[in-house]
Amino acid sequence: MGSAWKAPPGWAKMRQVVFAKHGRQCWRGCGRPATTVGHVVARALGGGWDLANLRPECQKCNSSHGAALGNRLYPRAPRRRGQPQRPVRRW
Ligand SMILES: [Zn+2]
Repeated sequence: MGSAWKAPPGWAKMRQVVFAKHGRQCWRGCGRPATTVGHVVARALGGGWDLANLRPECQKCNSSHGAALGNRLYPRAPRRRGQPQRPVRRW
């Protein structure tokens, strides 16, 4: 038994392009190096094999992703930028 999905032709090359474009860090922000490539929108949800839907991903996130779909899609809440915070320094 192998992976749950079947890689399309040219997948190896596609991975290289994804790594070259996005670097070798897991895009989910876990801090681990990416060892594989994952889908931004899961294939089960209609995500495709195009570059726009692919990101470097570590094996751990890649395998735990399917179980906790939904809440794990964007683990890092986007920070609002614009209001620079005052340094809190009382000393
Ligand atoms: Zn990860």
